[in-house]
Amino acid sequence: MEYDYVIVGAGSAGCVLAGRLSADPGVSVVLVEAGGRDDKLEIRMPLGFSKLFKTPYDWNLTTAKQGEMAGRELYWPRGRVIGGSSSLNAQMWVRGCALDYDQWGIPGWSYEDVLPYFRLAERRVGSNHGGVYGTAGPLYVSDLRSPNVTTAAFLKACEEIGLRRLDELNGPSNEGYSPTPVTQDRGRRWSAADAYLRPAMKRPNLTVITEASVDRVVIEDGRATGIEHSGGARIRARREVILAAGAVGSPYLLMRSGVGDGAELHDAGVPVVRDLPEVGKNLQDHLSTGAFVSCTKPVTLTRAESVANLLRYLVFRSGMLTSNVGEAVAFVRTSPEEPAPDIELVYAPVPFVEHGLKPPTGHGMTVGVVLLQPESRGRVGLNGRDVVIDPAYLSAGVDLRRLTAGLKTAKQILATNAMKPYAGGPMPPYTSPESDEEIAQWIRDRAETLYHPVGTCRMGVDEASVVDPSLRVRGVAGLRVADASIMPTLNRGHTHAPAVMIGEKAADLIAQS
Ligand SMILES: Cc1cc2nc3c(=O)[nH]c(=O)nc-3n(C[C@H](O)[C@H](O)[C@H](O)COP(=O)(O)OP(=O)(O)OC[C@H]3O[C@@H](n4cnc5c(N)ncnc54)[C@H](O)[C@@H]3O)c2cc1C
Repeated sequence: MEYDYVIVGAGSAGCVLAGRLSADPGVSVVLVEAGGRDDKLEIRMPLGFSKLFKTPYDWNLTTAKQGEMAGRELYWPRGRVIGGSSSLNAQMWVRGCALDYDQWGIPGWSYEDVLPYFRLAERRVGSNHGGVYGTAGPLYVSDLRSPNVTTAAFLKACEEIGLRRLDELNGPSNEGYSPTPVTQDRGRRWSAADAYLRPAMKRPNLTVITEASVDRVVIEDGRATGIEHSGGARIRARREVILAAGAVGSPYLLMRSGVGDGAELHDAGVPVVRDLPEVGKNLQDHLSTGAFVSCTKPVTLTRAESVANLLRYLVFRSGMLTSNVGEAVAFVRTSPEEPAPDIELVYAPVPFVEHGLKPPTGHGMTVGVVLLQPESRGRVGLNGRDVVIDPAYLSAGVDLRRLTAGLKTAKQILATNAMKPYAGGPMPPYTSPESDEEIAQWIRDRAETLYHPVGTCRMGVDEASVVDPSLRVRGVAGLRVADASIMPTLNRGHTHAPAVMIGEKAADLIAQS
């Protein structure tokens, strides 16, 4: 059990790495994944993703009690399956804007530097104004095949309140509104595994091990020499171990391997190999709230799961079951002082309540409100063998102020003439809060994750950062982290696209070293 490269985690970034590194027949690669195969219908069928929540395909995580969120413990789904979170995400391909990468201030990671890696990944099917997308990559970026009739009304409503129609959502600026480009191929989810892993599986130099949870990285004399997985089995790495276990899994594994805050490791009973206090810190997530109203016509996704729709999907790969729920978006600034959009509005032609875990009670529509640049910072930590997730939502007061302003814009959209043919009254449990205080309370009581944690293995040029700009863990040879955890700050977009870009760039950095 010895390979040149040992990759931990077959998620968005891990699949890219396995595909790209194994393209060189002169190296051997093993990809180790805690979850199992991704052949379930609800993975392939776009609307099925919330059916995977709280099943064996999901790590089913829970945050610590959130002091500013009415003491709630929030549910965090994360993919535990081949494809990782790209196998159960909402398929929205939203890179963010140029500033998101320029603001990192890291040589080699400016917008101009990372743009070629996004384009390398993309296989755009659909409009491509200005040639912003790549068209020859392995990852399909398509338009929805059967957008809901109310989604067109939402787009008109954005126009009505003075927002700008974007030619393409994924250009250097994303201020304005647009239908959502999705990672689908002809109505079927196209995960990172579909794009990168499956085509590479027949290579003799790539081994994929599933249902093997990695316990720790083995570090000997300051060098990562392999990993130990479920039951104590060891795999040796001749060249490198690459952690791609995600924003929770990667810092957790570093800490379990003795790399982290010395005092915290000591308390958790883990011998300290390298004191690196920032491991697990700097946790950021997109917090989301929303306004919903009933729909006066029976046209929304509420009854999407009919036999007719299932047949339409299975035979034609079209119809409501190809919806990704978040069918259109608008990026807005809540004040002219903001350098770029600070709020995203996500339109869903269904009342999307409690992660879609409960079937909707009637026809309705949601305008989700997402805080794009939270100033709150949380942490992933250890409590013995258990992981502690504390996003510290709303611990920075400005976050609540921005979300409050964003919710007012959502309400404004629902009240437009364009929405009139569909928008009815407020739908329970939404109470249509009016004053700033009522809105703030609604947010504290109801806001949820938009599933975008990042930042817990922060990349930086400074010595305190967890990984350097080549993604090498500081102070441990032969060990890199390459996934969403290395992002110093969140993008004003969604996090699958940057995770794929990070996988692409990491593969290049590794091949060059
Ligand atoms: C429900 C949901 C909806 C989302 N919607 C969108 C969206 O529409 N658009 C968007 O851009 N982003 C979306 N995201 C976020 C996006 O999918 C993630 O940010 C992205 O997939 C993260 O990629 P990653 O490589 O960092 O981690 P992941 O893709 O999470 O991969 C980590 C992998 O490592 C494995 N792993 C972890 N620990 C271990 C271990 N100890 N041993 C072995 N394997 C391990 C996991 O099982 C997993 O397969 C969503 C996420 C979720 C959960």
